[in-house]
Amino acid sequence: MNPSTVYFTTLRTQIGYGLLDKTRKLFEVSGFGKRIAAGDKVAVKLHFGEAGNVAFLAPPFARVIVDEIRKAGGKPFLIDTNTLYKGSRSNAVDHIETAMHNGFSFATIGAPVIIGDGLTGRDYVRQEVNGKHFAKVKIASGFHYADAVVNLTHFTGHELFGFGGVLKGLGMGCAAPSGKQEMHSDVLPSVKEAKCVKCGRCFDWCPVGAIEWEPGRAASIIKEKCIGCGECVVACNYGAISVQWQTDPAITQEKTAEYAAGALRSKRGKGLFYSFLLNVSPDCDCYGFNDPPFAADAGILVSFDPVAIDQAGVDIVNGAQGLEGSKLSDLDAGDKLFSVTGIHWEPILAHAEELGLGSRKYDLVEIP
Ligand code: SF4
Ligand code: SF4
Repeated sequence: MNPSTVYFTTLRTQIGYGLLDKTRKLFEVSGFGKRIAAGDKVAVKLHFGEAGNVAFLAPPFARVIVDEIRKAGGKPFLIDTNTLYKGSRSNAVDHIETAMHNGFSFATIGAPVIIGDGLTGRDYVRQEVNGKHFAKVKIASGFHYADAVVNLTHFTGHELFGFGGVLKGLGMGCAAPSGKQEMHSDVLPSVKEAKCVKCGRCFDWCPVGAIEWEPGRAASIIKEKCIGCGECVVACNYGAISVQWQTDPAITQEKTAEYAAGALRSKRGKGLFYSFLLNVSPDCDCYGFNDPPFAADAGILVSFDPVAIDQAGVDIVNGAQGLEGSKLSDLDAGDKLFSVTGIHWEPILAHAEELGLGSRKYDLVEIP
């Protein structure tokens, strides 16, 4: 497969040419505006951030994209989907309120906020993918029926993917909750009793009551109830809960690549992907907190290829300066994402390439 072009801009700025100008410039350089037909409904897919998290993408970046889509003749709207776990985004009412509290509303961004899978996550379309894991996937109808997409990804580490990038944001982020559950169904964490300090934090955190615990006793996971969301892995401050990283996350990653393929099928080439390598925290923005970034801010990427842009993001973050005071203990680690998350990040990229979503080879073109 031929290399794909990934545009990259550094974070260096000057008077009259700040990061928002650079974001706009990347949009212009990509030529995506010419792919938007008059009246196209263009989904600006992003993550509004869980309540309490402050690492998510700053709203002004979305405002720039909304303005560019309007200039091109499109009708932009902001979109995300309901979550599988409880929290501040598991139904459309809470989700829109959270988005508003975090700065995403018509008043601030200039476009409506739509929760793509409806009030309770039941509004989806079955899209054929004929993949290794799924014949059909459940894509939020608000995303499926959009004519085009501009995906804005805040690049992070992730406890099941190694990194949270464009493919994960499309696959997991455009699925209805029942689709999210299908993707997570092979993940079964376990508790290392010797490490467990019996604090009960995971018991309080689990969204479905799948953890057995009582004061003075180590926690254990009830296999039959667990939905594989991975929340307890992050909740445990003592590293006592882990997933079988050799197998379980790899399958979830492959399934998510198939969901990403399903999400993009209806877009017929009308997709532009941004990846913001800023504030690269160890966990994704789904948590109501954010640990400090572990790698230095690097820049902003744009591509038409969701695989190439994620591979470039991984390579750049792994090669960036490790940051003291972060979760990264070996600041010179070659694979910082693995070092921080303990998860191999390749399966999603490899399977997405197999599915024809794009190429892991890329040419990085710097835009001043
Ligand atoms: S959060 Fe960790 S240490 Fe606390 S009970 Fe659960 S497994 Fe044990
Ligand atoms: S992965 Fe952990 S938090 Fe999620 S359902 Fe299973 S036991 Fe509960």
